[in-house]
Amino acid sequence: MLTLDAPAAPAPVRRASARRRRVVFVVAGVIAATLTAAVIGVAVTGTFSEAVAPFTKLVPFSPTAEDGLIAEGETVTVDDEVPAIARLNPDLRDAMRAAEAEAASDGLSFRVMSGWRSVEYQEWLLEDAIELYASEEVARQYVASPDRSTHVTGDGIDIGPTDAQFWLMTNGSRYGICQTYANERWHYELATDPGGVCPEMKSDAAS
Ligand SMILES: [Zn+2]
Repeated sequence: MLTLDAPAAPAPVRRASARRRRVVFVVAGVIAATLTAAVIGVAVTGTFSEAVAPFTKLVPFSPTAEDGLIAEGETVTVDDEVPAIARLNPDLRDAMRAAEAEAASDGLSFRVMSGWRSVEYQEWLLEDAIELYASEEVARQYVASPDRSTHVTGDGIDIGPTDAQFWLMTNGSRYGICQTYANERWHYELATDPGGVCPEMKSDAAS
């Protein structure tokens, strides 16, 4: 029998749109609460980034190539254009490229372990090291804080393997390249004029 009573179709539509309104309302509420907290935070701390920091901390940071990450197993040379290389101080990059060209004639190649790093990446490395060594004091001997790290400014580069490191220890100064920390034979910076004498190394990144 054909009957036209109780057409139930409009009800779910109403429910769906009511649900949508609720979702929009909740999302708007969360945004409003976050912005309100940020505005209060700005009033208290003075800067927007400090004010929103407690919220961004809720999402765990994970470095990407954009932060200068060179993934484990990835082979990067000083001639590559990834952010870790592209954002280095051009003088350091050019000196490393010139040095590598000469080392190549000795049958060696430089492998970049790390170059430029974002502030967030450096902070993440430091926090990771503090966890690893269970000591902030020990961690800082190997990983500088973002405001001290020459990786963050693009003035430091970590090179491997061992034969390339020894080549740089012997020949780097001809390009102005020096090992700058006694406990990091992989870490190099432009620290003298080409053909000059490298300054005495600091004992570690904390000194
Ligand atoms: Zn380094």
